[in-house]
Amino acid sequence: MRPNEEPRAERQSSRRKDRSGESGPHKLAPLPFEEDGLEPVISRRTLAFHHGRHHKAYVEKLNAAVVGTDLEDLRLDEVILRTVDDPARSKIYNNAAQAWNHDFFWQSLKPGGGGSPPAELRKRIDASFGSLDEMEKRFAEAAIAVFGSGWAWLVSDDEQRLRVLETGNGDNPLVLGMTALLTVDVWEHAYYLDYQNRREDYVHNLIGELINYEFAAQNLRRAGSERGASSGRRESGS
Ligand code: FE
Repeated sequence: MRPNEEPRAERQSSRRKDRSGESGPHKLAPLPFEEDGLEPVISRRTLAFHHGRHHKAYVEKLNAAVVGTDLEDLRLDEVILRTVDDPARSKIYNNAAQAWNHDFFWQSLKPGGGGSPPAELRKRIDASFGSLDEMEKRFAEAAIAVFGSGWAWLVSDDEQRLRVLETGNGDNPLVLGMTALLTVDVWEHAYYLDYQNRREDYVHNLIGELINYEFAAQNLRRAGSERGASSGRRESGS
């Protein structure tokens, strides 16, 4: 054994730890609010399971699957884009996408709601849907209509038009080349303890009382500045 080499037993034990997903490149971010911060729309009990068990499990399974592979040093969005079209890596894709979606979902919510959309976002909502009420109505309809497990999204498409989308399982707007602004999780684990099969009530309460429009506006601004930077690079010929 070389002087600085770990003893075999220790190496094996650290690999076992990696396989369990307890350590690895991806971390479970804490919720951006208290566990009871979304009551009464979403109970503390639901959030404890949803974040502390379901979201955590996606991160742990992802870590266990990427350690020691060419994906180990990639960001979460890069793992998603690298694995989406590879059936042999569907397990990694599903866990990576679900980890990303849940991070995004928590930020889409805010205790007490985010109030009215900031002016620039409001202008885009009005231009794309006619009114905020119409956007919220279509967002709710999409969330209620998802067949089985999935997500509803408010997105900005290539032509910078805002749209509402449904995706199944872990799929998300990243893989469709669109910018996500907001999302609603309609997997049953998101609402069953509080609403049983009444997904409609969960969706209406969530959209009516918890949506974080400031987060949506930040995503829109970030997409605008990234687009500006890339068109600047194209114009300068580099
Ligand atoms: Fe979920």
